[in-house]
Amino acid sequence: MIEVKNVTKKYGNFVALDDISFKINEGEIIGLLGPNGAGKSTTMNIITGYIEQTSGEVIVAGYDMEKKAKKAKREIGYMPEGVPLYTDLTVKEFVTYMAELKRVNRKEKKEKVQQILKETGLEDVQKKLIRNLSRGYKQRVSMAGALVGDPKILILDEPTVGLDPKQITEIRSLIKRLGKKHTVILSSHILSEVSQICNKVIIINKGKIVATDTPDNLEKKVVGNNTIYVTVEDTEGKIDKVKDKIKGLKSIELVKENEDKTKQYVLEADKNVDLRKKVFEQFAKEGITIFEMKKADATLEDAFMKIIDEGGKK
Ligand code: ADP
Ligand code: MG
Repeated sequence: MIEVKNVTKKYGNFVALDDISFKINEGEIIGLLGPNGAGKSTTMNIITGYIEQTSGEVIVAGYDMEKKAKKAKREIGYMPEGVPLYTDLTVKEFVTYMAELKRVNRKEKKEKVQQILKETGLEDVQKKLIRNLSRGYKQRVSMAGALVGDPKILILDEPTVGLDPKQITEIRSLIKRLGKKHTVILSSHILSEVSQICNKVIIINKGKIVATDTPDNLEKKVVGNNTIYVTVEDTEGKIDKVKDKIKGLKSIELVKENEDKTKQYVLEADKNVDLRKKVFEQFAKEGITIFEMKKADATLEDAFMKIIDEGGKK
């Protein structure tokens, strides 16, 4: 559906995008993830044909963005960063205006506008001035603008920035719903957000792609080992017997002895081992009472920083 091939973008001497390539298939919800200044908006502006790359190719729905810009652009609905313009229009006026800009068939216009207002949950506020809406509703108006003309592809630049938690939840479920009918690219600098909404993540930093994967795999990749902390009763050597009996277990080490005579151990295993289950079963067999067990996953945020660090070293 979208192909970005060896795209470089320079602003003067500054290289904002450095030879990036990726493909997006129909129906995917892709997250473009990276810190501020990474090049997310630049990438999106190039895919939408809003700005031109310095070199490289962008193919959208089979059309080369440079040679067949008109046709390519017709397939794209774009929601730029920030709040919508035209704040002195009502919601309905804005969406109607967008429909005129995108040359939606006159006879269908009214119906299409209402359909989009319904889809984005804006029916009840359609007569309000955009400027009087909450930030969350303004974001929906932007989204409605992007939906005009039935584009196959939706490009949403930081769709949840500046929203409160309730609004964020609402916008996320709206994006998921839209993702059923559209190919979606959204950008974010928040990893947990992207991992909740998207089925694929492209991590970008300093104009370079540092990783592309599913949210789950990204986590596994960087977490590597599987580590849990277990607090048990004083075991009198029983714990040593466990080691050979759990397949995939690499090490057991004493972390600390508590005042109540319990001991905390850290266990490490291969990443595909369901360590908690194994420990639970095997410790019971050996008659070791478990007081506490916790998994020591690196969070996705840690993963993100690690990938970026590694990318920077290359
Ligand atoms: P992001 O959206 O990931 O925050 P951008 O794509 O907006 O990043 O910007 C990437 C880099 O390019 C930043 O360092 C930014 O300062 C720079 N940049 C963006 N737009 C321009 C421009 N029009 N002129 C010069 N530099 C720019
Ligand atoms: Mg940006």
